[in-house]
Amino acid sequence: MLFLAPRAAGRRRAPTAPAAATLLAALCGGAACTAFQPDPLTPPGTSVGAPNDGWLVEGAPVPDRAAGLRAYRDADRRHGSRRTVEIVTETAAWLAARHEGAVLHVGDLSTVSGGKIPGHSSHRSGRDVDLLFFTLRPDGTPATSARFHRFGADGLAVGVSPPVRLDLERNWALIEHLLEEYPQDVQWIFVSWGVKTALISWALAVGARPATVERALSVLHQPSDSLPHDDHFHVRFYCAPEDLPWGCADRPPIWPWVRRRFDRTAHAPADDDVLRELALGSL
Ligand SMILES: [Zn+2]
Repeated sequence: MLFLAPRAAGRRRAPTAPAAATLLAALCGGAACTAFQPDPLTPPGTSVGAPNDGWLVEGAPVPDRAAGLRAYRDADRRHGSRRTVEIVTETAAWLAARHEGAVLHVGDLSTVSGGKIPGHSSHRSGRDVDLLFFTLRPDGTPATSARFHRFGADGLAVGVSPPVRLDLERNWALIEHLLEEYPQDVQWIFVSWGVKTALISWALAVGARPATVERALSVLHQPSDSLPHDDHFHVRFYCAPEDLPWGCADRPPIWPWVRRRFDRTAHAPADDDVLRELALGSL
């Protein structure tokens, strides 16, 4: 399989990989382009490289509709790693089963072969996904249509009349499920400080598990180098263990509750990791 990419992308650091994987980057023709050729044995749905500097090998598609899930972007921008698509579809179904009528609106992931995608600096390796907030209509019933509204810390959409509110119960259920069911996978949930404040306040008010709130305090984050994300979540996942031998690359941070890379590939943990996990009470 051959992927053509802008030359600039080809100059970026090639994913480091063991002998099992060989990624070739070579100049092609007289034009400024490069050829990206994954190892022919790379399984479909493998994330290669980093979210801002990576690729995807035969990305897995997110369907237009599934249990509790509706897509609001074009299908060619809705491919992810196998693990990403598995988590997104399971999470949508889980929410729909527990919150009547809940519909998770899924936006951009990556193109089928990854690389640069218009409108994003990341979303290149199938490990980023945009999710719309759950919202409430003025009468307090859950909204079902996909709408972008910007929200403040008061949980109200900015400049919208009649008022539209964040559905804090369902949005927190989404965060809680991701952090409790997939703690080894979720690296970031980018969202504005205002929405983070509203969500954490809700979690504390309803007696959420302290360990989950502690994780949320780290993972929920307003990025400093992009839009504030006050109108949607952007979830970023770590490499799946099975993608690591093929050149998938995580960037810091690795949260304290996430086992390190060699742990995640089933190697025996080093002594310092055992001590760290003992200290954290997770063994
Ligand atoms: Zn995004």
